[in-house]
Amino acid sequence: MRSIQPQPFSSVYGPVQSWRFGRSLGIDPIGLVSTCSFNCVYCQLGKIECQCSDRQIFVSTQHIQQNLQPFAPWDVDVITVSGSGEPTLALNLGTILTMLKTVANKPIGVLTNGSLLTDATVRSELAIADQVAVKVDAVVDNQFRRLNRSLTNCNLTQFWSGLQQFRQCYQGKLAIQTMMLSPWSDRDQAIYIALMYALQPDEIQLNTPTRPKPLNHQLEARGNHHPSALPYLARCLKPVSVDVLKTFADRIQATTSIPVHYPHLLYNELKDVQHDTHKTQSLSRTD
Ligand code: SF4
Repeated sequence: MRSIQPQPFSSVYGPVQSWRFGRSLGIDPIGLVSTCSFNCVYCQLGKIECQCSDRQIFVSTQHIQQNLQPFAPWDVDVITVSGSGEPTLALNLGTILTMLKTVANKPIGVLTNGSLLTDATVRSELAIADQVAVKVDAVVDNQFRRLNRSLTNCNLTQFWSGLQQFRQCYQGKLAIQTMMLSPWSDRDQAIYIALMYALQPDEIQLNTPTRPKPLNHQLEARGNHHPSALPYLARCLKPVSVDVLKTFADRIQATTSIPVHYPHLLYNELKDVQHDTHKTQSLSRTD
């Protein structure tokens, strides 16, 4: 078991400007070593340093509360628990969420990969949050293994079972986040739509890589950096076009009536971003 993070690690970062959540203050319950049950090919943290599915306390609730105080009065739209990996791995997630609600009195969100939703304790802790966004990048096993590279003890059947159980008990706002690295086949789109229709999330967020992936884990990658001014080495991932996102979003919405959001990127801007980021690859860290 890892020891609790020593000072001066800051478990609070941002605020981050997010197209999905607005102005968001980030809470990192994971700490200096990136830790997740997945190792997604596009992860903005870089290669996950510790891949595991065992829950433990990485950062004490008291430490987070101390780090939170300098940000008072929390002029943000939401406080989001995410950080350096999968937040539901934090054994103290429930006490962290309760503390945040009490101290900051702001809407509290959690971004999760959903791999621990089969655990009833995780579901009840997550239910404290006002909004939960669950990652769904795949509808077939080989896509799941290729993109999310989960541990072998996590498969799609269990994942869907946990997610459906959470939907049935959760009273807050449930969002599904789907990262598209390439256009989906007609068959995969149809499977996804049927699953979403059955699940009935409050909204769906389609995404495509807009942030470069660091070559190695970077704590700074938790926050916002313009891609042309990254303080670390990174590589760009090819996004799908806005048209691909829009076409899929329109199809989902027409069939299920679930609101679907996606980033309205401008192609030219994206090309500029990619060009600039290529330049940063040849530089050493500037911070
Ligand atoms: S689930 Fe999130 S933190 Fe974990 S590897 Fe994937 S993108 Fe990174």
